Amino acid sequence: MKKRSLRSKLIFQYMAFVVVCMLVIPTGIARLLDWQFRTFASERLQEDQQDIVEHFSKIYSEYGSWSEAPSYMKKNDLLRWPMVRVQLFDNAGCELRQYSRVMKFDGKKRRRDVPAPFAGPYMETTKKILVDGHEVGFVRFSCLPFSESREGTFLTRFNRIMYYAVAAMLALSALIALFMANRISRPVLNAASRAQQISRGKYRMEEKMESDITELQTLIDSVDRLGESLEAQEELRKRLLSDMAHELRNPVTIIKSHLEAIEDGVWEPTPERIRLTVSEVDRLSQLIREAEKLTSIEGAGHSISLESANVSSIVERAAMVFDPLYKNKGVELKREIGQGLEYVIDAGKIRQVIENLLSNALRYTDGGGCVTVLLAREDRGFRLEVADTGIGIAQADLPFIFERFYRTDVSRARTSGGLGIGLAIVKAIVEAHDGTIMAKSEPGKGSRFTVFIPDKGIK
Ligand code: ADP
Repeated sequence: MKKRSLRSKLIFQYMAFVVVCMLVIPTGIARLLDWQFRTFASERLQEDQQDIVEHFSKIYSEYGSWSEAPSYMKKNDLLRWPMVRVQLFDNAGCELRQYSRVMKFDGKKRRRDVPAPFAGPYMETTKKILVDGHEVGFVRFSCLPFSESREGTFLTRFNRIMYYAVAAMLALSALIALFMANRISRPVLNAASRAQQISRGKYRMEEKMESDITELQTLIDSVDRLGESLEAQEELRKRLLSDMAHELRNPVTIIKSHLEAIEDGVWEPTPERIRLTVSEVDRLSQLIREAEKLTSIEGAGHSISLESANVSSIVERAAMVFDPLYKNKGVELKREIGQGLEYVIDAGKIRQVIENLLSNALRYTDGGGCVTVLLAREDRGFRLEVADTGIGIAQADLPFIFERFYRTDVSRARTSGGLGIGLAIVKAIVEAHDGTIMAKSEPGKGSRFTVFIPDKGIK
């Protein structure tokens, strides 16, 4: 398909519309006027001719002959434009008088007909003069064609003015089209070049673009937001890579130095030392497992398979799995689980949500603390809550904790931290169930994660 710029397309379409309007409307008006004028002029001519015929008939019936027929027309309006000449004939066809519209007074103040000013063929009409039903003569009228008449010349002049006006309007419209097309196309082009810059890695623009057209402003804002979100993703990606490198380096260095020390005979491979080395290998495996979660983050939201499941027992079972881990760390795990809650969910994915929340709560709560897992029936679904008395989350971090790879400074300082993808997975799963997730927290006091999953009806 042939591609044209938005600007030229807008100009072309606007001008096409204007040209069609300008040609159709004035031409229509001119035609209508012409028709109206012609009808009006021909009706008036007929009336005038009838008046003249009646005038002659009156004279004849008064004097009984043509001897008293006037030598010139007294009543000016009886010889109006576009009649140039009126000829009076008697019954035998003999021309008796001739009256012309164009007359001059000679030196002796006598009227004298002069030849008609227009050359060319006149339109001739003949009308009988009747007195008491008998033909006493006839009149021949010579008229100018309509185009030469006063009405005709007025119409020609009017049409000419109208076509000048149309030409002026077209020129003005072209300017308006150019202006409008520029106003619309410039922000679109700017947004497009902004998108190109983003694709080249320049995420932020120093200058903020503005448009007074709502849709274009939305486009500009969307592109800006896209840039900002890509920048944030890029930042998170870099942070993840450096975190990974950092987290991997420690256990690898430790394992290497232990093995070298054993190889050099500096260290006896006592069971205690081997266990130490194995624990570092475990740390490596844990990191690899976390990295594996990265792929599941993509699939988390998609492909959920819904089925009717007992949510109460899913929560109960998850809590049981975590019991020993909590006991080891000395954190109490309380349950407030409503019984017999049956909903249409993806059971495996919902279990993952509970496990991720319980694992976070344990990770960020020190020994002696307490975590409560709650499940309750709601108006149109169920609510799941995991509340802890742990380290809490700073207000500045709260809006970002559901973003992938996001980890607060506190969690990074702790060796226990993951890669910052657990909550991103939770959010993706909850949203795939059309649910919502909220986090409330106070640093030093604890956090509360509240999930709401709407009821989709028992299948
Ligand atoms: P991670 O694997 O780092 O725990 P998550 O996505 O699960 O990643 O959590 C993101 C960040 O949110 C964590 O790094 C941590 O800073 C914070 N966070 C999550 N849950 C809690 C909690 N229960 N208490 C305090 N901070 C939390």
